[in-house]
Amino acid sequence: MSTAVQTDLDVVVIGAGFAGLAMLHRVRESGFDARVYEAGDGVGGTWYWNRYPGARTDSECYYYCLSFSKELVEEWSWSERYPGQPEMLRYLDFVADKFDLRKDIRFGTRVTSATFDESSNTWEVATDTGERVRSRFVITGLGLLTAPHIPDFRGLDSFAGDTYLTCRWPAEGVDLTGKRVGIIGTGATGVQAIPIIAEQAAQLTVFQRTPNYVVPAQNRPMEPDEIADLKARHYEILAKARNHSFAMPFDPGHGPTAEFSEEERQRIYEEGWASGGFRFLFETFDDIILDEAANESAAEFIRSKIRGIVHDPETAELLSPRGYPYAGKRPPAGHDYYEAYNRDTVSLVDISKAPIQEITPTGLRTADATYEFDVLILATGFDAVTGALTSIDIRGRDGLTLKEKWADGPSTYLGLTVHDFPNLFTISGPGSPFANIPVCIEKNVEWIGNALDHARKSGVEVVEATAEAEADWDRQVQEVVSGTLLTQGAKVHSWFTGANIPGKKPVVNVWFGGANNYFAACDAVAERGYEGLTLTR
Ligand code: NAP
Repeated sequence: MSTAVQTDLDVVVIGAGFAGLAMLHRVRESGFDARVYEAGDGVGGTWYWNRYPGARTDSECYYYCLSFSKELVEEWSWSERYPGQPEMLRYLDFVADKFDLRKDIRFGTRVTSATFDESSNTWEVATDTGERVRSRFVITGLGLLTAPHIPDFRGLDSFAGDTYLTCRWPAEGVDLTGKRVGIIGTGATGVQAIPIIAEQAAQLTVFQRTPNYVVPAQNRPMEPDEIADLKARHYEILAKARNHSFAMPFDPGHGPTAEFSEEERQRIYEEGWASGGFRFLFETFDDIILDEAANESAAEFIRSKIRGIVHDPETAELLSPRGYPYAGKRPPAGHDYYEAYNRDTVSLVDISKAPIQEITPTGLRTADATYEFDVLILATGFDAVTGALTSIDIRGRDGLTLKEKWADGPSTYLGLTVHDFPNLFTISGPGSPFANIPVCIEKNVEWIGNALDHARKSGVEVVEATAEAEADWDRQVQEVVSGTLLTQGAKVHSWFTGANIPGKKPVVNVWFGGANNYFAACDAVAERGYEGLTLTR
């Protein structure tokens, strides 16, 4: 069905998660005429789609949130240190209602293509509902981990029971009571889901290809005094997060691991373990992601904890990561994860050496055994960073598609703009930091909002990264990671490099040079009159 071209939105935003909501609010504040297209029937993005059992934040609530409005900070109170998915969704609904954002969001509408028209310097955006609009700017807020990765298992469709994808979990929930469940995937998603599913299922079989380093999150309810204190200090905390390499308001570690005796190290690791989650990684020692010996020391501490928690030594060993560094894959935060394996009803199957051969009508078959279950759960991750962007037919100059341009790996300027794709901005795009996401998103939103204000004030019609600035940024993205251990997860399919997707060329696709340094680089570009961008009147 074709519809007549309507014209003249200033801004189309794609996605109504954290990024899309904050961006819509920002551009509306400046008086731009904007519309958001959202494939889901509600706001929330990641928090709309990922409703699997146990889904919750891995960052603490008071810095995994939006800061653009003091009133918002004042009015919203979190109930848990790491809010669950329902609470996150309530929060984003609250944001949408408070700022009356829904009136400019088209729900249940997926953008299928965006084509830059060089004669009018506008984007023509088409949706799966047959809508076509012409807009000066397009801003994507698609999230880093959005496009599901479903491995190409032979026989997947033949399974006679119910199959669920964690990132498309039914909103009404699934009753797994009394069921025999098989789950594939032990990344951050599987690690959150497994203990909760284990509470319900009659039998849970976990198929693990690569064990992860899981540090307990140490979740707990938030206390009223604590909430009041955190609200009072919110902007001080935000400033601290913006000054941290992973955008978290953490204190530095104690120093290099080698400067401490074994006894002191153990004490510091124990403290980190008790503080929970990412604090173990960032507040114990400063060289864990930089130095192999330091990393191995922390990794061995985690393995010793696994051996202490898991009763069966063989299972404990299977759960113990070896052969790649801690944080080489994004480390999950646990909620009684290892404890779940002490249940008689939970069994762990190592598929690293005997891979899954096929899904059968009654379960699955590996190279050396068959397994039966009633429900199959896929927690198999995402075509991260680029997958959601290249799934839309985005065409820049001369009909070049983003997919073609990025065939050998993504290329951007600051993760925000792409040469040959004028007036397109990508919030948390490839080459931007992988760090505490809401803080990164809001810096991107401010930067883009200011760039649009600047363009309008100066009569600029076209904003485009130069090829040179983009090449220089791409080079930096690859260089800054080389002194770290973060890419070593490539050999165990880390999404940091796209190595989790068969056939995707492995290349570091996020900025690991410090979120703080990234924010400074973006600010400097703006201060120097948008250096590296061509601004055409
Ligand atoms: P993931 O980390 O990519 O894990 C996918 C899992 O599926 C891995 O265990 C992987 O094994 C397995 N898998 C994939 N293909 C397979 C195959 N063909 N055969 C067998 N196993 C296969 O995905 P995720 O757990 O969804 O997490 C992705 C990211 O989302 C996280 O790193 C995190 O950044 C984010 N996340 C955040 C939160 C939070 O903050 N609360 C929660 C969940 C996810 P291999 O490891 O061997 O590849």
